[in-house]
Amino acid sequence: MKKLGLIVLAFIVLISCNGTETFNKQEAPRAKNIILLIGDGMGVAQVYAAMSVSEEPLNFERFKHIGFHKTYSADDYITDSGAGGTALSTGIKTCNQCIAVDSLGNPLKTILEYAEENQLATGLVSTSSILHATPASFIAHELDRSNYENIAMDFLDVDIDLFIGGGKKQFADRKDQLNLIDSLHHNKYIVVDSLENLNTEIEGKFAVFTAYEHNPEISNGRGDMLPNSTEKAIKILDKNENGFFLMVEGSQIDWGGHDMDIDYVISETLDFDKAIAKALDFAEKDGETLVIVTADHETGGLSLIDGDLNSKTIQVNFSTDDHTAVMVPVFAFGPGAEEFAGIYQNTDVFEKMMKALGFEK
Ligand code: MG
Ligand code: ZN
Repeated sequence: MKKLGLIVLAFIVLISCNGTETFNKQEAPRAKNIILLIGDGMGVAQVYAAMSVSEEPLNFERFKHIGFHKTYSADDYITDSGAGGTALSTGIKTCNQCIAVDSLGNPLKTILEYAEENQLATGLVSTSSILHATPASFIAHELDRSNYENIAMDFLDVDIDLFIGGGKKQFADRKDQLNLIDSLHHNKYIVVDSLENLNTEIEGKFAVFTAYEHNPEISNGRGDMLPNSTEKAIKILDKNENGFFLMVEGSQIDWGGHDMDIDYVISETLDFDKAIAKALDFAEKDGETLVIVTADHETGGLSLIDGDLNSKTIQVNFSTDDHTAVMVPVFAFGPGAEEFAGIYQNTDVFEKMMKALGFEK
């Protein structure tokens, strides 16, 4: 009897070992590339406001895997874009105003830095200054998001392959008289002052300053800077056979919310949707690219209180000129997209990206 018991036990151990092995083999499919698009301040109401007035279906509706993340920061129910960006970029909730550091100022490694370490090409695109909180959270490490000159210095510490946005001022006209444009040249960057001058045919690393400080609003002459930048960035980064990580930010959806200006919110969300189209068109053809669209938080407490889908008009109410606490949507497409269904923390977006790329911490 005793002997039989041992045999049964050994059999059970064998089965459970086998079970573990099978489980390991069923990991999520690996993505070669990730394009993460962040609509700053973009909640569900912002997306649906844009959908309601658009003549065409929006690209948001092309996603099949949709979830929500909880945005609160380490020290506040309401996050700012520093802590919000840091949660997405590092998987750690930190204090408001912080840029990829913990509340003591210790640097937190970002997904972009992991991508560099794993020989992926990396890029950042933003409709604000490239030094603003959201893009900065992927590359800089600062306790104070408003220290733009320090953030510009941090860009020289990471071998990012391409960045496109405003912010030339803190590279070229600094209080400390340092010339970081020279430093970029020294680090072998091709530095250009407009998207038109970005030649996707030549090999190299690119710094593209589309504005001295922030880019203008879409309604004030920014044109197709965001979708065109997204398209060009993909073309350049895709040359790397190991894959790429690209973050694209629609920065000014948030600013429309702060201004409590629905036309500003909608025009910026529609522009962001055009950038999403560029990412999805590439990913559909490529088959190895995970596209994730999300926000860092909602801005404005926007509600849609009346409307008419025939005349494409809406009536709205903003309940605040600041950020709110509500969960924000996540839309995912490509290998690993199903992992983004459900309700989870903002920090889980980082974990899911790491898993999709097969990176280890
Ligand atoms: Mg931002
Ligand atoms: Zn804001």
